[in-house]
Amino acid sequence: MKQTLWLKVNSRKPDIEKVQVAADIIRKGGLVAFPTETVYGLGADALNYEAVLELFEAKERPLDNPPIVHVENISDVHKLADQVPPKANRLMKEFWPGPLTLVFKRSERVPSVTVAGLETIAIRMPQHAVALALIEESNCPIAAPSANLAGRPSPTSAKHVFDDLNGRIDAILDGGSTRIGVESTVLDLSVNPPQVLRPGGTPLEALRKVLGDVKLHPFVIAEKELPMEKVRSPGMKHKHYAPNAEVIVVEGAISAVIAKVKDLAEAYRLKGVKVGVLATDETMANYQVAIVRSLGSRYNLAVIAQNLFKLLREFDAEGTHVVIAEGVPTEGLGLAVMNRLRKASGYNIVKAE
Ligand code: AMP
Ligand code: MG
Repeated sequence: MKQTLWLKVNSRKPDIEKVQVAADIIRKGGLVAFPTETVYGLGADALNYEAVLELFEAKERPLDNPPIVHVENISDVHKLADQVPPKANRLMKEFWPGPLTLVFKRSERVPSVTVAGLETIAIRMPQHAVALALIEESNCPIAAPSANLAGRPSPTSAKHVFDDLNGRIDAILDGGSTRIGVESTVLDLSVNPPQVLRPGGTPLEALRKVLGDVKLHPFVIAEKELPMEKVRSPGMKHKHYAPNAEVIVVEGAISAVIAKVKDLAEAYRLKGVKVGVLATDETMANYQVAIVRSLGSRYNLAVIAQNLFKLLREFDAEGTHVVIAEGVPTEGLGLAVMNRLRKASGYNIVKAE
């Protein structure tokens, strides 16, 4: 077991000595969790084969699901990618640093483990002073999947990282809670029109403003498990975001949703099941079960995204057996929220009418 160092840093003006301690660990092939604007990432030197292999092991992540490679300047993109199309230049100018990951054809100098044997590489520049300082001080691109055990809800605080990975990684840079709360949007530019492989912190509407036509991969909006041959982004096919509790998502018009959630909660309660409801500010007073949590106002999807993973983890801490979650509108950040909720439920979706 490793001794995991906890380094508290100022999230806006990170203390350089502590970042250097973390960067030393990365340069020596170790593993450091760090905050980004989306969720916490678990970083390793992207060009160090053994370090990346250890990264997969620490997370118990399947080897066929590549991490995103994080950079702090655009010239690194040209070293990691074989081709950078004009559309990518426009997107990087508009959205970087920020929660948009672009998929490029990869350069031969990237170790195959870093891209899980694919011909492509996913790259982004995070918008967080701690992440950027760590990459700069490490002097290498940093491969970083979310800093959770594979399959668990992504971590939005250092405490979440610690709960999953204490003893498995070398250090955690603690920069407080993350601002966006869901992962980056993954966009594939190798197809025409470009296709969103994972909805995330950069809304589809914003991408369409810049690029015009952008499609959603069928997986993004799936309401059931799709056949494997349709998978292009390997992460799509793995179990994801799931708390220990069973999750049920109830979707539909809001009054019908409230009635359905009440019915389901009552039925579980009568069976002696410890049931929780994941509601919103406008609806939570309708539910009389023991554990009701609000994601925030239905009219503020950014706040809902911020709270999602934290609340899923809180239900587990309370020993909840079944979580019944209200659906939210699939616009703006709501698309990412619903994608995560549906996956967390294993597509256990109830249509309320
Ligand atoms: P995470 O690092 O946990 O945020 O997950 C990274 C996501 O990016 C996963 O869904 C991966 O499948 C996806 N990804 C990473 N590399 C590629 C790639 N070369 N092509 C498509 N998707 C990728
Ligand atoms: Mg992840």
